[in-house]
Amino acid sequence: MPLEIRRLHLASLQAADGRRWPVHGFVVTHDGGAVLVDTGVGGPQQWLDDWRVVNRSVADALAELDMSPADIGLVINTHLHFDHCGQNSVFRHAPVYVQRAELSRAERESRELYDWFGFMDARFELLDGDAEVLPGLEVITTPGHTAGHQCVLVRRDGGDPATFDLLIGDAAYTPRVYADPASGQLPPGQASDLPAWRESLRRIQSLGPDRVHFCHHTDVIHR
Ligand SMILES: [Zn+2]
Repeated sequence: MPLEIRRLHLASLQAADGRRWPVHGFVVTHDGGAVLVDTGVGGPQQWLDDWRVVNRSVADALAELDMSPADIGLVINTHLHFDHCGQNSVFRHAPVYVQRAELSRAERESRELYDWFGFMDARFELLDGDAEVLPGLEVITTPGHTAGHQCVLVRRDGGDPATFDLLIGDAAYTPRVYADPASGQLPPGQASDLPAWRESLRRIQSLGPDRVHFCHHTDVIHR
């Protein structure tokens, strides 16, 4: 059975630029199971108020696909911001794949969030660099948005290694940023480390994904 990508609408929030942005997660179904990439928004109420979050439970979003949290066998966090790992605790039964560098960044820089989600209970699979998670499903490190950010490659048809979809996480918020990372002003928060971020964008573009799926934009880019 080929891998299949299904998008979840998990929330909307008001970004620092005043615009409302969607929050998407993705389910990748495979032979015998399903992987969830990013779990949506959660955290201290003050954070949700600050970002004017209109939130949904990830269970409700999964129900639209006729799925429940129990169907998710494995979680991947692109990074540990509150709109990407906010509902990790719904999946206590599942291992969470995250870069080791990202978990230590969260512990260092974002202690409140780190504690909020009871990370001591979570079953982290800590990755040190690029990794194959399942056949046809890989993560690549793309630091810059955060120190341990990773993107997810999905080879939907199994066979052809040159053909893949990219779940870009927050490596680029929008198609415009992805298409032209060098021009103009970046959205607030896009890059915490600008040189690393630019290098990651170069890397992604040189890999040449067939489709790019965004967490905070509804358009899908086709090559
Ligand atoms: Zn982020």
